[in-house]
Amino acid sequence: MARSIFLFNTHDLPHRAGEMREYELDLKITEAVGVDLLSVKPGETIELDLRIQSVDEGVLATARVVADATGECTRCLKPITWPIDENFTELYYYETASSKTSSKRGAKGKSGKEAEIDLDEDDLSFLDGDDIDLEPAIRDAIILNLAVNPLCTEDCPGLEDKKGENWAYLSQAQPQTPTDQRWSALKDFPLKN
Ligand SMILES: [Zn+2]
Repeated sequence: MARSIFLFNTHDLPHRAGEMREYELDLKITEAVGVDLLSVKPGETIELDLRIQSVDEGVLATARVVADATGECTRCLKPITWPIDENFTELYYYETASSKTSSKRGAKGKSGKEAEIDLDEDDLSFLDGDDIDLEPAIRDAIILNLAVNPLCTEDCPGLEDKKGENWAYLSQAQPQTPTDQRWSALKDFPLKN
């Protein structure tokens, strides 16, 4: 299996509290990151200004996530670009037997919606060897920035207020006479008055 682009190897960072390294990363993603209506599309790049610091418990990652999500205005269906610029901080614990035990104790019960987003019942992140997995933090940072109902402009008039302009476009795009074979049998059906 190909190595996830979100895995970052921290071998350059000495495991001594106070040590710090900074990186500028361009992550070219292969799967959409976001929600149905708005997402950073495959092939796009997520820019990551990453700082990793050694702390007693593990590696503290602080990052700025910059990307452009794209989608459609939910009112007028115009394509929109949604700039994302968000920071996150995530502590990756050294993987030890005791930290694993304490993480189970620390796991919280979650209510419906949260549980869907974060299927992992464990809230804590761990180093895997020298690797830290930035994917959950990046996904959260992006999704937090996305509107549930994205609009091209805050006062988008929508389709109906544009004097049928967009409706006209839509009906042009869809042929008046359905060519789909599944509908042809209905053509002579006495549906109309
Ligand atoms: Zn709109």
